[in-house]
Formats: sequence, C-alpha cells, structure tokens
Amino acid sequence: MRQVMPRDDANAPSGEVPVLSESVSGARIRRAPRHLADLDVTARKEWLTDLGEQPFRATQLSNHYFSRDETAAENMSDLPSATREKLVDSVFPPLVTQVRNQVADGGWTRKTLWRLFDGSLVESVLMRYPSRTTLCVSSQVGCGMACPFCATGRMGLTRNMSTAEIVEQVRLSRLAVRAGDLGESAAELSRIVFMGMGEPLANYRNLLGAFHRISDPQPAGFGISARHLSVSTCGLVPAIGRLAGEGLPVTLAISLHAPDDELRDELVPINQRWCVGELLDAARGYFEVTGRRVSIEYALIKDMNDQVWRAELLAEELNSRGHGWVHVNPIPLNPVPGSIWTASSSSAQDAFIGTLRSAGITTTLRDTRGSDIDGACGQLATLEVEEGN
Ligand code: SAH
Repeated sequence: MRQVMPRDDANAPSGEVPVLSESVSGARIRRAPRHLADLDVTARKEWLTDLGEQPFRATQLSNHYFSRDETAAENMSDLPSATREKLVDSVFPPLVTQVRNQVADGGWTRKTLWRLFDGSLVESVLMRYPSRTTLCVSSQVGCGMACPFCATGRMGLTRNMSTAEIVEQVRLSRLAVRAGDLGESAAELSRIVFMGMGEPLANYRNLLGAFHRISDPQPAGFGISARHLSVSTCGLVPAIGRLAGEGLPVTLAISLHAPDDELRDELVPINQRWCVGELLDAARGYFEVTGRRVSIEYALIKDMNDQVWRAELLAEELNSRGHGWVHVNPIPLNPVPGSIWTASSSSAQDAFIGTLRSAGITTTLRDTRGSDIDGACGQLATLEVEEGN
C-alpha cells in the first residue's frame, strides 16, 4: 500500500463502512429511515416482532415488496384492515421519488433523476437492448474519489445511500420497464450495473445488502441472478478482496483509465494509495476466486491516455497476469462541461483497440448510450443543484 492520501481522511475508502456523521459541507447527515429492504429475512421478522406484529407478517410484506413490487397499503388485502396503513407506513417509508426523466435513443434509454428522503438528488439510467434491459444505479450521493474527468467526482461526497435507497431504484425502474415506459412495449429488467453516481465499494455494507436484496430468491429478494449484476470500482483494493470472498458471482469492473502510475495518479487519485500493480493483482485474484471474467474500463481521452504505447503497456500488464481472465471496455470520454479534456479521435480509438486485440486481449468499445443526455455521469444532478432546485 502506498502512503499518500488523495483527499481528507473522512472520505477515505478502506473497504470498511465509512461512518459519516458530517457531509463535506459540514452539514449534519440524517440516516435514511429504516425500510424493509434494508433487512435480511431474519432481521425483518425481528423488526415486525418489535412492532408488535406476528413474524409471518414479514413474509407477507416481503411478498408484496419483492414479488409484486408493491408498497401501497390499499393493495395489501391480506393484512388486517385496522392496522394496515400504520404497518405499511412503518416498513415502507417513502425514500425515493421521481423528479424527472430524460429519454434518448428512440425511447430505449431513459435517465431518471430521483429525490431521496432528505432532498438529495441521484440518478439512474435504463438501457433497453433487443435481448436484455439494463439498469445503471447510484450507490452514493456524490462521490469522494475526485476523478477529474467525472462529473460526480467533481461534486464531492455528501453521503452513502442506504441499502433500501439503492434497492428502490431497482423496484421503481422494474415497474416502469414492465409498464412499457421504455420503448413501445413491456419488457423485463434483466441486469443491474453499479456504475451510476458514487464509488460502490466505499459503501460496502449497504452495497452487499443491495446485492442480496436484488439477487436473493423471492420473497427474500427480487430474484435477479447475481450473475446479472456488475459493480464498477476505481480501485479500492482491500474491498475487492473482501468482495471476492462473499460467494456472489457478481461481475467486477475496474476503472483503470491508465496503465502507468504517473498518469493514473492524476486521472484516478485513489491510485496514490493503491497503485496499478496492486489493483491488477486484486482484479486477477477476484477472477481466481469467483471465476468471473473481469472488465477493465478505459475512458479514451484525447492525447492523454490514448497513445499506442499505453495500449501496449496495458496489454503487457494484463497478459503478465495470465490469459482469458480479463477483457477491456474502452469508452470515448463523455466530456464534462468546463473540462479541457475531450474524447479521442476515432483513428486513435481504432489504433488503441487494434493494439490490444493484436496482443490477444478481448476488447469491445463500450456503447455510449445516452451520451446526449449525459447518461450516468452525474451531470443532471449537478445541473439541478446548480439551478438551486
Ligand atoms: N466509482 C465507480 C463507478 C463510477 S461510474 C468507478 O469509478 O468505477 C462508471 C464508469 O464511468 C467508471 O469507469 C468511470 O470512470 C466512468 N466515467 C466517469 N466519467 C466519465 C466520463 N466523463 N466519460 C466516460 N466515462 C466516465
């Protein structure tokens, strides 16, 4: 581990749950009210008992939430009418409400801005494809990792999202997809990627809770296979090791963006703490334990990280750790307003990708779904804050 800290220690990721009592602006952080989706099955029964109810009510409520995506008391006729409202208000406090949607790609991409219980704003993006529908979710309000090319990184970290706040994005999006709001017909939400706002591994415990609520079989969870979940990290090495040991076949994506420490120290400041070599060793270790092929994300930035020699160095770093364990997903930079950086030229992209492929590395240019609505880069929420809404 290297010793330099990129930012103040309060936001420092360690793989442990950061206990935040203050936001970056010094305002007091309120914890999200407890919600049924924060808890595993055992804790739900204990909670219901504490509320003076029979433990089997936990199963009924879980069925409504996880099997039917339902939180409205009037649609829960199996609960006693006298206490139904009060019980539902206690276990399903409204945590996440929709502020607005932006659509792109002929209605097949939809970005939603959500307001959380305390007024915080986060966003998620739905992307429909012929054979699957993917939701990109946020895991923190803002982000403490300070990557200079990322809109969320420029906002700083306000707070972690609770498990239920993360899960609510999934439930509400799944309802929208089933209602036919994405494209001209109903579909089924099939994949969830943790690539929205925030550094998921800096909110480890709530992230793990969300993985379980999403993937556990109904009615414990939504029953979406953990194989269909992906989590992206800028490189919190201890947390990668910890995640490998959880026994969940989640896909790991690494935001590498540079194969050399000199440039990565600048583009992804957490590299000053855990360097490229340590990060790639952890990624390789993740593959060994889980058998899941790791993705390397690489935003191609003009004249910054897109040189052929860097593609060669990247291939060398990956191949030196074995073959067939990793693939690379370059994506043209989606420029953040006010930044001097732009996307690489298409000839530079082609040369970069060609170099990796010639070295035997599976490489796919990531699609830029929703780039015209600033998809998944925190820009909508930033705008909203700047407008004072
Ligand atoms: N904190 C996590 C998730 C971030 S968002 C992480 O760093 O992996 C998911 C991906 O979008 C990351 O690879 C991130 O580096 C990338 N990204 C952020 N801003 C971008 C931009 N302006 N253009 C292209 N990719 C960007």
